[in-house]
Amino acid sequence: MKFKSKYVFLVVAAFIMACAKDQKTVDTASALFLKGDKNTNDNFVGEVWVKSLVEADSLNETAVGNVTFAPGARSKWHSHPAGQIILATEGVGYYQEKGKAKVILKKGDVVKCPPNLPHWHGASAETKFVQVAITSRQNGPTVWLENVTDSVYLSK
Ligand code: MN
Repeated sequence: MKFKSKYVFLVVAAFIMACAKDQKTVDTASALFLKGDKNTNDNFVGEVWVKSLVEADSLNETAVGNVTFAPGARSKWHSHPAGQIILATEGVGYYQEKGKAKVILKKGDVVKCPPNLPHWHGASAETKFVQVAITSRQNGPTVWLENVTDSVYLSK
């Protein structure tokens, strides 16, 4: 009897652990790339995670990073001296170029942002957004500008 209850406990414990592991597998399996570390600089507002996938070097001056925005999170206005390519991989995001209307981005959308054109990108207000950012450092680093105000962020 003592042996049997120990056995039942072990089976139940193994089942609970298997369920917990399953949950973790499902969460990470839906993401294309690792989430990376929480951003700590003030170039973004809200919760943002960044995982560097490719570091720029002297032979290939292109940096590739996976960026995850929590709902409401976004970059400041900024520009890239050699432009940028954004690949939307998950969720719903916003992208806006100076002087143009905000564009809604969904999984599979691709944006080619022209060099030196101020723009911002981030999650929609209700849904998180994950993007791969491909940025050439050929003409210099990203130029960071002012915050995106709530009225601009929420504009249609
Ligand atoms: Mn950008």
